[in-house]
Amino acid sequence: MEFNGTDNNEVIPLSVPSFIGNELEYVTNAINEGWVSTAGPYVDMFEKEIAGYVGAAGAVACQNGTSGLHTALLVNGVKPGQEVIVPSLTFIAAVNPVRYAGAEPVFMDCDSSLCMDPVKLERFCSEECRLDNGCLVHLETGKIIRCLVVVHVFGNMADMESIMGIAGEYHLKVIEDATEALGTYYTSGRYKGKHAGTIGDTGVYSFNGNKIITTGGGGMLVSSDSGILGHARHLTTQAKSDTLYYTHDEVGYNYRMTNLQAALGLAQLENLEQFVRVKTDNFNYYMKRVSCIEGLELMDVRQGIRSNHWFYALYCSSKYGRTRDGLISHLKSRGIQARPVWGLVHKQKPYQGCRAYMVEEAEGYWGNVVNIPCSTGLTLQQACRVADCLVC
Ligand SMILES: *Cc1c(COP(=O)(O)O)cnc(C)c1O
Repeated sequence: MEFNGTDNNEVIPLSVPSFIGNELEYVTNAINEGWVSTAGPYVDMFEKEIAGYVGAAGAVACQNGTSGLHTALLVNGVKPGQEVIVPSLTFIAAVNPVRYAGAEPVFMDCDSSLCMDPVKLERFCSEECRLDNGCLVHLETGKIIRCLVVVHVFGNMADMESIMGIAGEYHLKVIEDATEALGTYYTSGRYKGKHAGTIGDTGVYSFNGNKIITTGGGGMLVSSDSGILGHARHLTTQAKSDTLYYTHDEVGYNYRMTNLQAALGLAQLENLEQFVRVKTDNFNYYMKRVSCIEGLELMDVRQGIRSNHWFYALYCSSKYGRTRDGLISHLKSRGIQARPVWGLVHKQKPYQGCRAYMVEEAEGYWGNVVNIPCSTGLTLQQACRVADCLVC
């Protein structure tokens, strides 16, 4: 079927949410029942539903993904003066919490999945570090590296089989930034059936407005360790040990999700599989169209996973008739929103002095990748309009 959408000048946004289910009903219930703040039945229900969906022992609902990641670092024992291994090709919210915890990031490169390269990770651990009393120590700085943050970029899955092996060998805790990957899981291999976020020690999801489901702003920490879950719940509710006398045994945070947000999230979660279907259908459509365009590639996901296909990444090679920025401005002139991948984090002002280990591949992806419209409400007609504009 061919659509002639060129006379249609409506703007096609990059990524906007869809509210097609019980959102209004649940939010209205929350207001009618008077539970709007950080306690209420929807928070408990949303936590249980997310934990059940991804197959985690439990979940702690947070204000956003960033606060969830900060909490994850703290409950995994990251202390001031230590270092944490992070990717450079990521949204900066995966890295900032390392500084909130008083630690320093050490940046790693990505592989063709856009996620952390396990080969360079292993080389860094074996050549640049030593194990000392069960602790990994960075030779150059003398600092302890306790933890690793893996980001499942654009809903693809990092190579968790390799990464978990390396983490085991070098005594690293693994935090999965699965903020973009709710709904992504392994369909084969050692982790068959395991969801992104449930393989490492702690996983974090985000429900920001541009993620696959949204609570306006929100996040969720998951783990299979009841100690981690209990500590995360404690820290995110001001570390209040006693609700009558208000005793506090450590510095906590006001990081819990509100009942209003959770009401929205519960309704969104009911449509998650439908959203994944739309994203997958549109991915397959773009793939078919892009495969006929010289020099342009729609980056595929790892074999052996079911991806949520959150974001679509086009790679503009030198054989393509446009540069990254040329393509973005061409799409903009046709009313289509597109954007380059995030600026590499190790080059951002707050992190320029930090260690970055052989970050090379990420530079190439940074210079050549374009994200194109991927909303859960994107119609075939709109996808066709986008694809038509990719042809030079
Ligand atoms: C969205 C996102 C976050 C942060 O989530 P918020 O809910 O916006 O705080 C962290 N890391 C990555 C990779 C993200 O895409």
